Amino acid sequence: MLLFTPGPTPVPESVRLAMATPTLHHRTPEFEAIFKETRALLFKLFATDEVIMLASTGTGAMEAAVTNLCHDTLLSINSGKFGERFGKIALAHGLNNVEIKHEWDTPATVEEVVEALKANPSVDAIAIQISESAGGLRHPVEEIASAVKAINPNIMVIADGITAVGVERIDVANIDCLIAGSQKALMLPPGLAILGLSNAAIEKTGAGKGYYLNLASEIKKQKQNTTAYTAATTLIIGLRAVLQEIEANGGLGKLFCDTARRAKATRFALEALGLHSYPKTPARSMTTIDDENAKEIRDLLKTDFGVNVAGGQDHLKGKIFRINQMGLIEPYEMVAAVTAVELALAKLGRRAFDGTASRVFHEEYFKSVLNKEEK
Ligand SMILES: *Cc1c(COP(=O)(O)O)cnc(C)c1O
Repeated sequence: MLLFTPGPTPVPESVRLAMATPTLHHRTPEFEAIFKETRALLFKLFATDEVIMLASTGTGAMEAAVTNLCHDTLLSINSGKFGERFGKIALAHGLNNVEIKHEWDTPATVEEVVEALKANPSVDAIAIQISESAGGLRHPVEEIASAVKAINPNIMVIADGITAVGVERIDVANIDCLIAGSQKALMLPPGLAILGLSNAAIEKTGAGKGYYLNLASEIKKQKQNTTAYTAATTLIIGLRAVLQEIEANGGLGKLFCDTARRAKATRFALEALGLHSYPKTPARSMTTIDDENAKEIRDLLKTDFGVNVAGGQDHLKGKIFRINQMGLIEPYEMVAAVTAVELALAKLGRRAFDGTASRVFHEEYFKSVLNKEEK
């Protein structure tokens, strides 16, 4: 079975093997050396002033970001389940929440964010997904962050990059907190979250808020290559192995380039079958198709063709399917996935099979390889 869900994603063999070593005690020089190396690799990936690892899923990092960086009113961007979650976190902690809400295929605009900030001067942090996984859309986060800072540089910009860090290069010039999670683009089992922080964010955390999700106490410890509480040792060993594996495969630049090409070739291949890409601004992390037979296609992919893709949640349940693009994925694996979609359509009597998906994927993917070599 090919795992093509946009989280969890497949864990490379070298990484699984690295995590099979005997458990280390976390307060030892041996583990501190691993922690230090992992931190150094993370700084390359995040390009932020500080990075910290938390033993929690991505949502824990979202909560830590909100509670430590928002003291009054959060402006949350809700174009899907994960954006909605930021608002729920704010309310759960007694903070005010101003929400910009859209259908799940529609990104936020710079203009509406600027308007919301003008109408709500108490906003001291904005939270937004880079890639909103609910509908597979990309928000214009860099442009929004830059507009926010132009209005008031003290407003903290929290960017959920759980399906973006490791997918594409993110300009963190105006981002104060960039969040990643282990089981999505970082190709690990679930349970580890990472926050990249700006110096302004570190300053705002001050003495810190909360207890376990207290960023100030974590920053202090992690600068010394240890953690405030027991470190997720096995996942951190796995994270080091993932980041080393990416380097061994040509580095972050190649990973980002391959991912962009693969995502585009997949979308072209599926559109050539007459399918429709759901988000108005597709993220590179996943290919999202809305279709009246979405459920049947997804079921057939699993039962008849050994390809496991994700469906939709809430009002999009049974209406969309999502194919993962995150991680080190060989083009031939994606050819198997798009061919399976074409076979499923044939089985549903929608379209005679003629190999179009595979042909279009190859044309698009390898055309760009050749163009690159010519340069
Ligand atoms: C999966 C996901 C989350 C939530 O992460 P958990 O690890 O499930 O807590 C948050 N934001 C985005 C964009 C995600 O894709």
